[in-house]
Amino acid sequence: MPLATTTSSSISSYLHPRRRRNAVVAPRCEAAQREEIVIVGAGVAGLATAVSLRRLGVGATVLEQGAALRAGGTSLTLFKNGWRVLDAIGVADELRAKHLRIQGMKMRSASAAAATDVLREFSFEEEAPGQEVRAVERRALLEALASRLPPGAISFSSKLRRVAGQGGPDGATELELEDGRRIVARVVVGCDGVNSPIARWMGFSEPRYVGHMAFRGLARYDGDGAGGGQPFEAKVNYIYGRGLRAGFVPVSATRVYWFICFNRPTPGPKITDPAALKREALDLVRGWPEDLVAVMRDTPEDAVVRTPLVDRWLWPGLAPAASRGGVVLAGDAWHPMTPNLGQGACCALEDAVVLARRLAAAAGAAGSAAGASYGEAMREYERERWWRVFPLTARAGLVGALVQWGNPAVCAARDGVVIPRLVRLGPFLEHTNFDCGLLEPPATAAPLP
Ligand SMILES: Cc1cc2nc3c(=O)[nH]c(=O)nc-3n(C[C@H](O)[C@H](O)[C@H](O)COP(=O)(O)OP(=O)(O)OC[C@H]3O[C@@H](n4cnc5c(N)ncnc54)[C@H](O)[C@@H]3O)c2cc1C
Repeated sequence: MPLATTTSSSISSYLHPRRRRNAVVAPRCEAAQREEIVIVGAGVAGLATAVSLRRLGVGATVLEQGAALRAGGTSLTLFKNGWRVLDAIGVADELRAKHLRIQGMKMRSASAAAATDVLREFSFEEEAPGQEVRAVERRALLEALASRLPPGAISFSSKLRRVAGQGGPDGATELELEDGRRIVARVVVGCDGVNSPIARWMGFSEPRYVGHMAFRGLARYDGDGAGGGQPFEAKVNYIYGRGLRAGFVPVSATRVYWFICFNRPTPGPKITDPAALKREALDLVRGWPEDLVAVMRDTPEDAVVRTPLVDRWLWPGLAPAASRGGVVLAGDAWHPMTPNLGQGACCALEDAVVLARRLAAAAGAAGSAAGASYGEAMREYERERWWRVFPLTARAGLVGALVQWGNPAVCAARDGVVIPRLVRLGPFLEHTNFDCGLLEPPATAAPLP
């Protein structure tokens, strides 16, 4: 739905003061549409930021390049830090009702001699009490978040072409869209994902390919489970080979998510033929445990994706700041990380709550004071979040490098000593104890329509 162009500042005159400051400011130029807060990208970070702001009584417009919410995609494993955010923003119970709670982990070796050997089994209840793990369909997560926004809050088919400039008395930012529309906003939140044009404009380097690729898929069942009608165990299954690992986890009674990570010096050409993608994935795990292979075979071709794994380490003093003027980054646009800890989306959710809290507090200031106040809010957000996201990005990268090692001696040590004897689940999942807190609307806030 295209945005209505707001060319008259008179609209703001009859709004409640709280809404007025979030809706329309006097236009700087006839053709440009004016907004207070624009979020670029209706992915996990963008939608969660919009919903969080809204809970705090602040409106925002979301620009999404796609014609609709992303319907494809597979699933995201969310840990307890992610569920805390979903609780804070009010969508957790709806998603809990649709997704299985995972009880533990099973780690196996893929080596021919030990194809069915279980290296180790963990129970969350025993070794990480209070942990909450569910694999959530990305589509369901996006839909749940979007359902908390009013009609028209997401402007689809609105692809950002570039940040056209910044300045003026209120320090506003001008955005140019692919279809030629221009939008001037006091605050721009770049949630445009791993290839973010906004991050590029801010001087960030391109994300670094780490030398590993991932296949992901979502198998479909009729509700009785696979394997002769037996439902899948509610466990994350990991299977380790040499420079190759795979896994699967039940999502719901009708969906099982699986993945493969494999080493490759360069990502290579993009494969667009879905049948070829699925074939390549199956070829990688030929001879591996049959339950994994069966899940992969039960996956529709259009539910298989292949992605190069990338990250960007926010080295202090080297990485640009997370904000520039009234523009700030969140989620993968700021800190793409490899999926080895299952924390990319969880951190994007955390960003959303922390940033929304800071922006909502700043939204009270008027005129040019609001610009200064937003700027300080963004810097505080960065100070608060850098300590969280930089170490996690680095740790995810190091874990990936270790588990993808193909050296036979290293793999033997991993299968014979490290996994069976040394891994401790509680300390390994320590990072999921992070609590971003609640989102309490100020007592004086009038509810938004
Ligand atoms: C293989 C793999 C497995 C993963 N598994 C997990 C997991 O188990 N758990 C977990 O927590 N995380 C996981 N992640 C990470 C997770 O997918 C990301 O961290 C998360 O999707 C980031 O959300 P985001 O909103 O920042 O970006 P995205 O979800 O990529 O959303 C970006 C949005 O911006 C839009 N957009 C982009 N450019 C423009 C533009 N120019 N104009 C307008 N709109 C634009 C896009 O269309 C999209 O809707 C995994 C990642 C990979 C690669």
